[in-house]
Amino acid sequence: MTSAIIIGAGMGGLAAALRLRQHGFTVTVLEKQPRPGGRSNVLEENGFRADTGPTILVMKYVFEELYRALGLNLDERVRFVPLDPNYRIYFHDDTSLDLFGNMARLSAEVERIEPGATERLFRFVGAGAQKYDLAMEFVERNYDHLWELANPRAGLRLVRTQAYQQLYHQVASFFKTDKLRKAFSFHSMFLGLSPFKALAMYSLITYADLVYGMYFPMGGIYSLIEDLLTLAREREVEVRTHAPVAQILVEAGRAVGVKLESGETLRADMVISNADLPYTYQTLIPAAYRKQYSDARLQRMEYACSGYILFLGVNRHYPQMRHQGLFFAEDYRANLDAIFRTHTIPDDISFHLNNPTITDPSLAPPGHSLLYVLAPMPNLQGTVDWDVAAPRVRDKLLARLERIVDPDLRRHIVWEREYRPTDWLRDANAVYGTAFGSLAHGFFQSSYFRPHNKARDIGGLYFVGQGTYPGIGMPMVLISARLLTERILRDVGGSHG
Ligand SMILES: Cc1cc2nc3c(=O)[nH]c(=O)nc-3n(C[C@H](O)[C@H](O)[C@H](O)COP(=O)(O)OP(=O)(O)OC[C@H]3O[C@@H](n4cnc5c(N)ncnc54)[C@H](O)[C@@H]3O)c2cc1C
Repeated sequence: MTSAIIIGAGMGGLAAALRLRQHGFTVTVLEKQPRPGGRSNVLEENGFRADTGPTILVMKYVFEELYRALGLNLDERVRFVPLDPNYRIYFHDDTSLDLFGNMARLSAEVERIEPGATERLFRFVGAGAQKYDLAMEFVERNYDHLWELANPRAGLRLVRTQAYQQLYHQVASFFKTDKLRKAFSFHSMFLGLSPFKALAMYSLITYADLVYGMYFPMGGIYSLIEDLLTLAREREVEVRTHAPVAQILVEAGRAVGVKLESGETLRADMVISNADLPYTYQTLIPAAYRKQYSDARLQRMEYACSGYILFLGVNRHYPQMRHQGLFFAEDYRANLDAIFRTHTIPDDISFHLNNPTITDPSLAPPGHSLLYVLAPMPNLQGTVDWDVAAPRVRDKLLARLERIVDPDLRRHIVWEREYRPTDWLRDANAVYGTAFGSLAHGFFQSSYFRPHNKARDIGGLYFVGQGTYPGIGMPMVLISARLLTERILRDVGGSHG
């Protein structure tokens, strides 16, 4: 039986483990943290159950495909509720806009803000569809050679959709008001990328949100990780927690196993790292074998942003809220420049406001609500002292929440936790404390140019998750697990066991 060791039990690591197991591999997953899930984790205290990572599930069909590949039906194992609207967007002047997937309702909302915008909204969504089709040709594939990027049909569509333009600039050509420009450009933030830097191609995420819809798995996103762990147990995939890997063992140019921090060594036919790729190269691979990603090259790469999360358990209900909310700073560009260019704390903070108890009251004790407030923040490439910054950020967030949720909010908080960029570094070995994923999605860190899922300098070493292609976000890391499995099956010669 072919054996594989996977370093890290993130969503990508677990999906890859189950897929390889389905093909007869013996798989051991080694996770440093006490609880698997990586960036998709959970906090359970005082009757509150809070996802600590992703809360927005789009492209559900990708999750369904994983389960089909495992011979299962996702909807028979996890109960999903569609969200409607996808988000409520709050603006600085106390107005709001609901982003519905239903086009008639969305256009009514858009007309309230910008009379006459419906026709441009429809053109924007149509252009998003073209970008989505275009992007998927590059997302759903493995790469071996640069020339695989050369695709005349895609090239034509690239020119037609001008997907190479700057995202914000292109959105601004469809909408006249600052509010709609914000509402239809922010999605690149999910990839850790400023809309002022991202390619217009990434309005495909807006399209996926609107057209494929957003879903909430009852029990929270972590219920998906829990189901993958149940399957791992049932199918004899060993998932070991408290098992930090210290080194990938390389013999004669080939990865042959790992050494744990405890000193224990484990051998296997291949090693797959789900840990951050720059971290894997810098820390786990002996310097003598690192030809492809030197320290200097890793330093030149562009890293995604981080975030600050405030978790609040509140002894009240807020039926006027929607499950997902977004608040945009008045000066959008200044906010994004602070996060991405100067690596400083923005004066005016934008944030994602999630109230999952609207959909699933079981995530809090009866009569209580759970608020998850995620503010994008600079990664640790700057000099922010988080012991000083965190209380200030918390205060600003609470002041804004008092305007949009409850003027008496502070009096009703019965449980509170926070998560800082330094926590991702400590817990997940996330390079520079990056939140959504480590490597930003600029053109030269996407598709063929993103680190490949197979090391070129070391035989038998593979990668899965956000550090390799297609990239950041749950649907992408699940696609990466499929691409990795296809790659490995090709390498080991298809059928085995
Ligand atoms: C706050 C936040 C909000 C997000 N929001 C969304 C969202 O709404 N929608 C969405 O789709 N995505 C979202 N994301 C992104 C998404 O969660 C990630 O892109 C995805 O979960 C990454 O999965 P992964 O498989 O690449 O691995 P990771 O989750 O990065 O896991 C890697 C694992 O490797 C382990 N590890 C590291 N070093 C070692 C070692 N030496 N030995 C053993 N184990 C090790 C780590 O502990 C970790 O468990 C969000 C992320 C965060 C943090």
